[in-house]
Amino acid sequence: MGLRSRWLGMALALAAALPPAARAAWQDRTEAIMGTRIYVQVWSDDAAKGNEAMEAVMAEMRRIDDLMSHYKPESQLSHINQRGNTEAVQVDKELFDLIKLSTHFSEITEGAFDITYASVGYMYDYPNHIHPNDAQIRSALPAVNWRNLLLDDAHHTVRFEHPGMKIDLGGIGKGYAVDRCIDILKARGFQHALVTAGGDSRFLGDHLGRPWLAAIRHPDNPQLVVTRIPLTDAAVSTSGDYERYFDENGVRYHHIIDPHTGHSASKVRSATIIAPTATQTDGMSKTAFVLGAEKALEIINRMPEYDAVFVTPEGKVVYSNGLRPPVPRPEKPAEATAASPRG
Ligand code: ADP
Ligand code: MG
Repeated sequence: MGLRSRWLGMALALAAALPPAARAAWQDRTEAIMGTRIYVQVWSDDAAKGNEAMEAVMAEMRRIDDLMSHYKPESQLSHINQRGNTEAVQVDKELFDLIKLSTHFSEITEGAFDITYASVGYMYDYPNHIHPNDAQIRSALPAVNWRNLLLDDAHHTVRFEHPGMKIDLGGIGKGYAVDRCIDILKARGFQHALVTAGGDSRFLGDHLGRPWLAAIRHPDNPQLVVTRIPLTDAAVSTSGDYERYFDENGVRYHHIIDPHTGHSASKVRSATIIAPTATQTDGMSKTAFVLGAEKALEIINRMPEYDAVFVTPEGKVVYSNGLRPPVPRPEKPAEATAASPRG
């Protein structure tokens, strides 16, 4: 028996003797839901339980998509868009609450995040290289204003107070769905997991004694990583101008819209937000993108739960205070130490 096969034999005997928990393994699954890539990874000591949990995650993604997708004419969100101009449209509390939370993000970001961006946003068609002209934007822009959403807490109804309004939860729905899926995994006893929907991810626990690593890609090269952020029990979302876009006459038309202008925002190439939940990071990543590094950091550096990383148009990587390396302490001059009073 060669040394290698002896080792292998010992390893197999050892594995067979260990309790099931020690034979836990990573399991993962990828599906296309919500018009994006959904990925789930769990550390599980029981393959069947792991599979069931991942199935439950995918089912939850589909459920939320059916409720909130603006691509599905039968979704409750589409009902609001179809009838909100003429009547107060009643929806499930879950959808109502997310719309209400969206207006909270609008409030704290001076309207940089605004689900009524869709009143102009629907005129962009990225795959077909279609964008509104200045006159079209001018006439539709007054409908972009979250303050014209009339929300009735008692009846869970939504009504538009301005003609031509539309809403879209594409900027917060995936993060919300990721949070609901993490809740499902937690309730089933999982302690190490990752759920990703497009640009939104949340990590449950750590990666077996080490932090997870969230990679931030180069805006022009998906193979290049500009930085990696170690994370444990945290969410991360990146908004970039390279996800859904087309270029025309040197201008990039992409899917993050500045609600104040109706044009694609252009102060940064990408904005990444880190916070406890993916609903928070998803909502704030649009905000950070629209406001640009300087203005967004004024807000984010005041909110202890949030951190941010920006890639600027010049390719510079800018971090919020919480992620910046500590400033080295100046060395104490020797005589000052000697002269310091004691006791
Ligand atoms: P992903 O869809 O991959 O998660 P983002 O998190 O960057 O990417 O979200 C982009 C989406 O956010 C857009 O497709 C659009 O639906 C929505 N959106 C764009 N601009 C705004 C805005 N100013 N406020 C709210 N939502 C926005
Ligand atoms: Mg997102």
